[in-house]
Amino acid sequence: MAAGSILGLLAWFSSAGAEAEEQAKADVVLRNGKIYTADKERSIKQTIAFRGNTIVAVGSDADVAPLIGSGTNVIDLGGKLVLPGFIDTHIHPIIGALNGAKCSLAGVKATIDVLKPVIQNCLAEDQGGADEWFEAAQLDNYGFSATAKDLDGIEMKRPIALWGNDGHTVWVNSRGLALLGVTAETPDIPGGKIARDAKGAPTGYFADSASIFVDEKIPSPSLEEKAALTAAELKRMSAYGITSLMDAFVTPAEEKVWRMLYDTGRLPMRVRMAIYLADPNALLKPASNDSDEAVARLVKVSKDGDVDPDFLRAGVVKVFADGVMEYPAQTAALLSPYLDKNGKPTKHSGELYFDPQRFASLVTKLDAAGLAVHIHAIGDRAVRASLDAFAAARAANGDKDNRHQIAHLQLVDPADFPRFKELGVMADMQLEWAKREPATEGPLEPYLGPERYRYLYPAGSLHKAGATIIGGSDWDISSYNPFRAFQTAVTRAGGKGERPLNIDERIPLETAIDAYTINAAFAMKQDRTTGSLEAGKRADLVVLDRDILTINPETIEDTKVLAIYLDGRLVHSAPAGSNAEGDDEDEEAGKWWDEREARMRDWLHRD
Ligand SMILES: [Zn+2]
Repeated sequence: MAAGSILGLLAWFSSAGAEAEEQAKADVVLRNGKIYTADKERSIKQTIAFRGNTIVAVGSDADVAPLIGSGTNVIDLGGKLVLPGFIDTHIHPIIGALNGAKCSLAGVKATIDVLKPVIQNCLAEDQGGADEWFEAAQLDNYGFSATAKDLDGIEMKRPIALWGNDGHTVWVNSRGLALLGVTAETPDIPGGKIARDAKGAPTGYFADSASIFVDEKIPSPSLEEKAALTAAELKRMSAYGITSLMDAFVTPAEEKVWRMLYDTGRLPMRVRMAIYLADPNALLKPASNDSDEAVARLVKVSKDGDVDPDFLRAGVVKVFADGVMEYPAQTAALLSPYLDKNGKPTKHSGELYFDPQRFASLVTKLDAAGLAVHIHAIGDRAVRASLDAFAAARAANGDKDNRHQIAHLQLVDPADFPRFKELGVMADMQLEWAKREPATEGPLEPYLGPERYRYLYPAGSLHKAGATIIGGSDWDISSYNPFRAFQTAVTRAGGKGERPLNIDERIPLETAIDAYTINAAFAMKQDRTTGSLEAGKRADLVVLDRDILTINPETIEDTKVLAIYLDGRLVHSAPAGSNAEGDDEDEEAGKWWDEREARMRDWLHRD
């Protein structure tokens, strides 16, 4: 072999070595910050580095310095707090986005006189024909009672439907009632309520599963329209630092939208779909969907929904155990009866939406098949029946590590607190709900009585009993802003100086952060890749404008997100002090971040 070719070979080796070294450098280094890692020790570091979509180092500025190469984008955080990207484990992005396109009654006092001008304004802007349904949403249902005739005072010619802000109730006018075809002869359906007059004729109010009579009559928007509305909402959601979510109610209609958003590159977060067990009421009937065929169908739907291990997955089945607890619906299942408004026991305890034995059999089969079950359970009887079903599954199958979840947990009997830990069932809580406001006081307090009301939203008791708490906003029932959930979880109040709701049920801020990061990732079975900031995991993280770990907890909700990285890519940046919701956001977007980057470029190239 000639000397020349050896030299050539050596030159090639050394250039390949330099290339390999360059490749080993980080793409992005965020230095001089306060990195809350959410790792096992909940350690706080100074600097984080990532390459491609993967975190390569978390440590001190000095630890990470060797990873900085000429191509590394180095950003000085100026001491800012960094958290893992937020994971919302119970949210309804598509349903919420579609509701957002309806006439909004949010914050409008629910009386016919006050609603009338708001709805008539919306009607004037709507181009719909005389037979076309007009829909309004977010009606404050507490204390609102109206008949179709009352709604005729607002609009008589077009059919109108007013949806309650609990998502479980709807009112229609006489024109609407005529189009529904529901009459005195129409039988009630389990898990639903059709308000009727003395002769049995419907009066225009439908609750829970009976709202399907209205829903199925109203044509839905096209797939592309749904996808466009959802994509716009996801962008706003992403600006709050949400990097993963679970859609808690996915029918074939929602599945198509998620699939389209994925295929067209419009997913700014990781998505898991909870496949809705169609018609849970069938579980009240013999020979129904705890059959092997029904389970096989769910397994197949779930497999088809596992599109991308990082960005679009299924593996969860959603079931409703009961309805809602607030007066007047009171469809949540309680262990002992609701009280009347004077505190005297009634005969009404709500009802379970399934036969407990059939349900336990279904859950056991789903668990054996490797699916997680996510149960909507509001009342203490629904919670107990859900835990009983998980206990049956555990007895039959052992611990299959499916990470089952019960969502909402508005009322839990103290005897059941320790069972969450024992059975490995996650407590999916809507932490922002736990505050004194018209919706928690008027329609609940007198009807439950003090002994039970004391355990309304028992986050603290569950936490102390060792339950793993995970956070879900249940948007569009409530805001998806995680900082509002953090603030309420810690203060149990809606705002500064407000009287807290069951203050003993507050949880530490770190527990609330865990609920939206590492614990949520565990529940979503994505804790190997997300939920904490550790080498080897995906770079999903948020940079905040203030240190929520040290500020007055009553101001956490004002926190703004300065930058969001998803899978190592900067997906959102905003100037300090801007509002994530603000219209001026696009104009100003990235200014704070751009300045940081420019300054660091100058600093790196100084000599
Ligand atoms: Zn929900």
